[in-house]
Amino acid sequence: MGSCLCGSVKFEVRPPFSAFRYCHCSRCRKASGSAHAANIFVPQGQFAWLSGEGLVNHYKLPTAKTFAVSFCTRCGSRVPHLIHERQEYLIPAGLLDEDPVSRPQNIIFWGSRAPWYVEPQEIPKFDERP
Ligand SMILES: [Zn+2]
Ligand SMILES: [Zn+2]
Repeated sequence: MGSCLCGSVKFEVRPPFSAFRYCHCSRCRKASGSAHAANIFVPQGQFAWLSGEGLVNHYKLPTAKTFAVSFCTRCGSRVPHLIHERQEYLIPAGLLDEDPVSRPQNIIFWGSRAPWYVEPQEIPKFDERP
């Protein structure tokens, strides 16, 4: 199961995933507000809304062929959206409430990564705040 930050939007997604990857493209960086997106793709039939679908708004980037995002209008979290051309749902992985067992297979648009991006193994880590 997955949910947005405020918990209004909930959905169910069933494995196996068609793909699980990080995307560093400039659009994903803008849309996520972060270094990269972490996207899971599943065939349409493996996804179902459980609640809050009416709170979901959608933005399609006019200058792009297919780039779009859906978000919870209460809390602003990205939420899944259907990619019509592929009959697949894109699931932002950060929404998942359980370990999906699958792990990311690759990174795309690595050449577009932010100049400030530092690979996690290169910097100190704290289990909570330092
Ligand atoms: Zn929400
Ligand atoms: Zn991207």
